[in-house]
Amino acid sequence: MTFEYSKRVPQTDNDVVGEILEAAANPAVISFAGGLPAPELFPVKEMQKAADTVFETEGQTALQYSNAIGEKVLRDEIVKLMADRKVTTTVDHIGVTTGSEQSIDLLAKMFINPGDTVIVEEPTYLCTLDVFRSYGANIVGVEMDENGMRMDKFEEALKAHPETKLVYTIPTFQNPTGRTMSLDRRKEFVELANKYDILVMEDDPYGAIRYEGTELPPLKHFDTQDRVVYMSTFSKILAPGMRLGWIVCNLDVLSNFVVMKQSADLHSDNLSQHIIAKFLEQNDIYKHIKEISDLYHHRFELMLEAIKNEFPADAKYSHPEGGMFIWVELPGDVDTMELFKTCVEHNVAFVPGDSFYPNQPKRGTFRLNFSNVDDETIKVGMKRLGDALKAALQ
Ligand code: PMP
Repeated sequence: MTFEYSKRVPQTDNDVVGEILEAAANPAVISFAGGLPAPELFPVKEMQKAADTVFETEGQTALQYSNAIGEKVLRDEIVKLMADRKVTTTVDHIGVTTGSEQSIDLLAKMFINPGDTVIVEEPTYLCTLDVFRSYGANIVGVEMDENGMRMDKFEEALKAHPETKLVYTIPTFQNPTGRTMSLDRRKEFVELANKYDILVMEDDPYGAIRYEGTELPPLKHFDTQDRVVYMSTFSKILAPGMRLGWIVCNLDVLSNFVVMKQSADLHSDNLSQHIIAKFLEQNDIYKHIKEISDLYHHRFELMLEAIKNEFPADAKYSHPEGGMFIWVELPGDVDTMELFKTCVEHNVAFVPGDSFYPNQPKRGTFRLNFSNVDDETIKVGMKRLGDALKAALQ
């Protein structure tokens, strides 16, 4: 039969990202394309101990249905994590989610009617673009520089689109660029959101993984009007397979969020919630995050050194102070999809920049990941990449 899908399903046979990931998955290819945390730092033993304790002491509760807002034991722990991030909140403002991906999806479902305008950084996280598109959003991209979203361009976009419903931003160690919004811009950003009365979706999966520079409070810290919905996740600081994240927001938004979540999946995995809460009780999460940051710092430095040694001298690249990605911009008018094919022939892969742009992509851009590759792989892979770039740019 001919299946008649809704408009929410992408109306294209052209799964570019799928093709990229498939090419990158070839075992001969060294891939800097993924965005996976380093699995050797997953706290397997500690998690096992936490799980044992949960089964021994609260097994029946943990295996039962739970509630959509999330288990109180975990939300109590999240209040403490938020305090460390300079956001003062209480347990009733926190909702547990099945990862930030679900937070993004449910918020988009709650706020976006077909044709509504949303503002994003350009480039931005490609799965968010997919979510916004599936709800029929009109996506407006705002230019960034090394200090994050440009506030002059943000205000221009707000003036040009007074109908704007919300702005989505990843202020710290952004995916895909690794860039961080400066302190001044954070303050200005919230002031502009207040002035133009729009909702803010702040996506912060990487902020805790800082290895250089001064810590910056999230936008939520500067939010005097309770319009910022803050989202974070255990995926990068503990384990993505456990699929747990959270939102911190206004009570009215949260009560509607809970209703939407209930119809999406009733609640997030109850067992995982109890295990992570127990893990946080039994272990020093900040010590663990420090280990992650130290390893990523080391890998970042190696990759940076290789870029300096192997890439064409006029290539530009970001210098993230944390997180998992470096963003590269090549000079001239380079078709990055073609470049990707050349690189795969050299057995090395990245994610071409095109997919991260809501509208017109910037040519010659791509994302490199350094969190999930060991030293030797970085050295060999970056040499291959440098050779491929030189061959392609000749
Ligand atoms: N937002 C951004 C910017 C991300 O990079 C990711 C994961 N790659 C997510 C959200 C989703 O994370 P989670 O595993 O919490 O669903």
